[in-house]
Amino acid sequence: MKFSEIQGQEAIKERLRQTVKSNRVSHAQLFLGPQGNNKLALALAYAQYINCHERSAEDSCGKCPSCIKYEKLAHPDLHFIFPVATTKSVTTKPQSQHFMSEWRQMLIEQQFLVSMNHWVNKLDIENKQPIINSEDCGEIVRTLGYKSYESEYKVLIIWMADKLHHAAAPKLLKTLEEPPEKTLFILISEKQEVMLPTILSRTQIIKIPRYPDADVIQFLTSTKSVDLPRARQICMLADGSLIAANDLLLRTDEAEWIFTNFRQWMRYCFSMDIASMLTFVSEVSKIGRERQKTFLLYALRITQFSLYMNLDREDLLKSEGEEMAFLSKFFRYMPTANIQSFVKEFQDAHYHIERNGNASVIFTDLSLNLVRLLAASRQIATN
Ligand SMILES: [Zn+2]
Repeated sequence: MKFSEIQGQEAIKERLRQTVKSNRVSHAQLFLGPQGNNKLALALAYAQYINCHERSAEDSCGKCPSCIKYEKLAHPDLHFIFPVATTKSVTTKPQSQHFMSEWRQMLIEQQFLVSMNHWVNKLDIENKQPIINSEDCGEIVRTLGYKSYESEYKVLIIWMADKLHHAAAPKLLKTLEEPPEKTLFILISEKQEVMLPTILSRTQIIKIPRYPDADVIQFLTSTKSVDLPRARQICMLADGSLIAANDLLLRTDEAEWIFTNFRQWMRYCFSMDIASMLTFVSEVSKIGRERQKTFLLYALRITQFSLYMNLDREDLLKSEGEEMAFLSKFFRYMPTANIQSFVKEFQDAHYHIERNGNASVIFTDLSLNLVRLLAASRQIATN
């Protein structure tokens, strides 16, 4: 992976290159930031750049023996740890090394835009929660103790480091404190709040931001050959995540589904049609967590657009067509006075869905709270 193959993130790329140029590569770094911002690709490009025999000021060469092995994810001094669980083929004591071929396959299939959801699907372990276990850490620590085979730096990438089981932490901590010579640890995580504080304090944090809309649109139009109107529509739902953009692209009518159902749901809540509302809840409960999260992010976008309408800032809107027609009536029922309550409701629901809460309960509670909020808004609107 070369830096030039990664969409945007220019400031981060420059920062990483600078560490190499000034000979200040910190031995333990945490790449932190939201899903779909190419953290993993950046980590790989960085490691490849460090070990390239003929790097330029801007990028690795992509042609030297080290780069070629890196491109194939088959360099003997490049190691990975990721969350694992028992599967149909590995029924006991799972370790990352048992799943290297599935891992490489997933990275290539997804062009490095991978989420936990992709990994769970790849491992075919539906209801299990994979973790980074103690045996895995022990094994890798032993491996890192050996001399590097052929490169300057041995690199260990720990993907989803927030899934590190507490029993595994001491082994890793010890290595982070007394690292083997010329070893680079790159930890990758989406969630600082669930990272073990002891790990956080021993790593240099590199915050990697979500993509601005312009980058998402460029990714869709140039890399994915999507036409501009559709790219805009997907971008609105993707919330700065190229993973979400990719997933939305695969489900061609998803954007339409989300809009139609959101509008219908608001109508049920507004007219206090509890029976239809509960039917909607039972349907949305079945669509899976990732789609539920996207649906709630869409609700947050609509809330934000309602705020713009209320503030007479229609210039900030990115809506058109039917959605605009809906918004131009609906925004009155999300008045500035209680917009914060709407935001809180959608954010709380998103939070609980992400943490595996019961979708049916979450959407029922949310709907009932929206009934109450919309009734209050109606009061404000008529006064
Ligand atoms: Zn090279």
